[in-house]
Amino acid sequence: MHCLDCKREFELDQSLLLCPECGGLLELGFVINNIQLTQLKGRGVWKYAPLLAGDYPFKVSLGEGSTPLIRSRVYPNLYYKFEGTNPTGSFKDRGMCVAVSSALKLGYKSVIVASTGNTAASAAAYSARAGLQAYLLLPANNVAKGKIAQALLHGAKLIEVSGGFDSALENAIQLYRNKRTLYPLNSYNPWRLEGQKTLSFEVFEDIGVPDYVFVPVGNGGNIYAIWKGFKELAISGLSCGIPRMFGVQAKDASPIVRAIENNLSELRFVESPQTIASAIRIGKPVNWKKTIKAITDSHGGAISVSDEEILKAQVELARVEGVEVEPASAASFAGYKKLMNEGKIDQNSKVVCVLTGHALKDPETIIQESIKIESQFASTFNSLDEVFKMF
Ligand SMILES: *Cc1c(COP(=O)(O)O)cnc(C)c1O
Ligand SMILES: [Zn+2]
Repeated sequence: MHCLDCKREFELDQSLLLCPECGGLLELGFVINNIQLTQLKGRGVWKYAPLLAGDYPFKVSLGEGSTPLIRSRVYPNLYYKFEGTNPTGSFKDRGMCVAVSSALKLGYKSVIVASTGNTAASAAAYSARAGLQAYLLLPANNVAKGKIAQALLHGAKLIEVSGGFDSALENAIQLYRNKRTLYPLNSYNPWRLEGQKTLSFEVFEDIGVPDYVFVPVGNGGNIYAIWKGFKELAISGLSCGIPRMFGVQAKDASPIVRAIENNLSELRFVESPQTIASAIRIGKPVNWKKTIKAITDSHGGAISVSDEEILKAQVELARVEGVEVEPASAASFAGYKKLMNEGKIDQNSKVVCVLTGHALKDPETIIQESIKIESQFASTFNSLDEVFKMF
């Protein structure tokens, strides 16, 4: 493993989460393996245990992973990787089962995480499962109702922080630096990303290597993890080539897009990120170095989409494809449509849009915004008589 800031290298050590020398972001080396995926037994994330860096004597599991890859009935060669079917309704479960197992191995009793909501719900569930106490730092008045309800239901301790997610994360990192008694579950924890890379293995087993993968980007851990998964398959000689990774951000929360478009080597943070898609309302993505690495290495790109495009994509997915996702998840599909409409993607390309979380996470946005976005989609009637008159 090595530090992306000071570039020092370290022996693989599961207790390291940030660089012990400079506090920077740590990257785990590629896991090279010649095991054919078809020889692996079981299902879900832990099926790929031999391909994960680290040692997991206690494998905490709620049946995460093995999510459906749904073929579009409209766009040829487009597939949706629907992560909403994970135990707590988002892809976070893939990483959380591994990170919480790591906490158990290291002997921790409590965990801490800053979250826009889904990480909180996932950390709460997996901590409960592992017998750990979870402390959750949440931006005050800014978390979707479904996610709060999940965290409370699982018995986590909630701490509201002013100043949005970015300040919650700064507080969580500070707490970890000063008090090592709480195990951090945010995505700067490189062991968590090991679990998230299994999405690529599943896609590969289903359809081989796609040409493009579209991923909504907040802190940028997931797009990196998915890239790392495909990269390891290629380096191990199990696959040929990797997909072009496209990160999609909301227009007023898009520091990665700005950096990629302007070829910047340093990220300029967005101070007050704004978007209806609360899961990607992030202005200071902690994993930005990894995100840019994944995008540039794969010859991918970064695109921003407006809230209106996000909501329209959410409604289209639900009404045309039958797939229900939260707004942040629809960003990947909105980004795909944008590039498609601009003629930048070949019709024959094999594309995967990662749909990161379930619609039930954020019912308020659906009722207040999503279903009103397309007037021809208005669908409630005032009386039964109105309905009968139509037929
Ligand atoms: C966490 C999350 C994201 C962003 O993932 P990052 O790894 O932070 O880039 C996107 N969509 C949903 C639904 C999420 O929960
Ligand atoms: Zn360092």
